[in-house]
Amino acid sequence: MKKRNLETICIHGGWKPGKGQPQQLPIYQSTTYRYETSEQMARLFDLKDEGYFYTRLANPTNDAVARKIAALEGGVGAVLTSSGQAANFYAIFNICQAGDHFITSNTIYGGTFNLFGVTLKKLGIECTFVDPDWDDERIEACFRPNTKCFFGETISNPGGNVFDIERFAKMAHRHGVPLIVDNTFATPINCRPFEWGCDIVTHSTTKYMDGHATQVGGAVVDSGNFDWETCTHRPTPNPSLAGRGEDSSTTEMVTTPLPTRERLGEGRFPGLCTPDESYHGLTYTKAFGKMAYTTKLVAQLMRDLGSIPAPQNSFLLNLGLETLHLRMARHCENAQKVAEWLEKNPKVSWVNYAGLPSNKYYALAQKYMPNGTCGVIAFGLKGTKEEAIRFMDSLEFISIVTHVADARTCVLHPASHTHRQLSDEQLREAGVAPDLVRLSVGIENVEDIIADLEQAMKNIEG
Ligand SMILES: *Cc1c(COP(=O)(O)O)cnc(C)c1O
Repeated sequence: MKKRNLETICIHGGWKPGKGQPQQLPIYQSTTYRYETSEQMARLFDLKDEGYFYTRLANPTNDAVARKIAALEGGVGAVLTSSGQAANFYAIFNICQAGDHFITSNTIYGGTFNLFGVTLKKLGIECTFVDPDWDDERIEACFRPNTKCFFGETISNPGGNVFDIERFAKMAHRHGVPLIVDNTFATPINCRPFEWGCDIVTHSTTKYMDGHATQVGGAVVDSGNFDWETCTHRPTPNPSLAGRGEDSSTTEMVTTPLPTRERLGEGRFPGLCTPDESYHGLTYTKAFGKMAYTTKLVAQLMRDLGSIPAPQNSFLLNLGLETLHLRMARHCENAQKVAEWLEKNPKVSWVNYAGLPSNKYYALAQKYMPNGTCGVIAFGLKGTKEEAIRFMDSLEFISIVTHVADARTCVLHPASHTHRQLSDEQLREAGVAPDLVRLSVGIENVEDIIADLEQAMKNIEG
């Protein structure tokens, strides 16, 4: 496809109907695919022919939506998963195994915090949580010989902290490992992490990408820029990719590989750089080049763990993606007005929204997301926790839901809802103040949103 802008990819990416074919992406609600001879089927299993055979490994509806998301992010490939949790698990597990280690920002989604700190630990994968505000020296001291990647969220859920992608990409690359960024809140409409040196992007498509609270899903996108064999970041312009903004990652980040580095990947990323006996003895990097990471994720992890989305869900996700560019602009415009209103409200003790010039992350947000960040605002109310609860219970059309990043304005108190399994200390470590209220500003009329907040505030002392 010719280089297109994001808005056009939202509509046309992934599915190009031919003559007489359905204009809208069809739902291939089928587990399997028919062949006429046993020989045809055998050739598929021998990897001599390409074709669909079982939906756990590939499905035309899922693939079309994955292609759209890959194009939006500017990646070489993407895989859809059944949830955002599965996406983050697969992204890490595709390059880490028992005995390995990775580093993550500590300001991340509560579910990811548990996945990394508890469940991956049970699988023998250890992770170090770092505060992105620490200086380079302190964070770099956390790298170990068995460190396999660095992880962060573009805009953290629920705290709203902005991750300095370029800084951490350079740091990860200095240590010969990729940077993985969860881009759920910004979406590729507002931020494209690959342009700043990030190697792999993950999404909970449950949020803005769907945008209408209809399906739970996730995606893992590969930039194709990390050379697993030499353990270096080697951005190469991909002419077929969409692009507003070119790849800004500079050549200075590409460390010239020493002769001995050529075999470094075999030790560091054996899953990608040495033969997979469970998959025809193929070596993914040799057989699939820039598609090595994506192919391994499907051929090995999807095959064995199977967290695929239902084709019906991918269809719904695709409908959401068709208007993502329109919705994100309105989410940001509304949230900006609500954040400014909250900041002036005497009953509000603090507001964290990176679009506010007073915000600690304002400069970073301007750099990475000049068109706006997202619709999610974190704020604290003066007074007791009970008053915060009374405020939420007094809201009229703004609803109390676990969900976030959706067309409908909604609210949540992480300390008593999503993050209630974390101790106060862990809450603070995850950047979640006990009085934090997460307000996800929707795309209703902003005056109505503010009016609802205002009438609910009347019920608290402040
Ligand atoms: C919601 C969320 C997840 C988890 O996604 P699910 O689709 O709920 O499994 C991961 N990361 C971020 C930033 C999220 O907001």
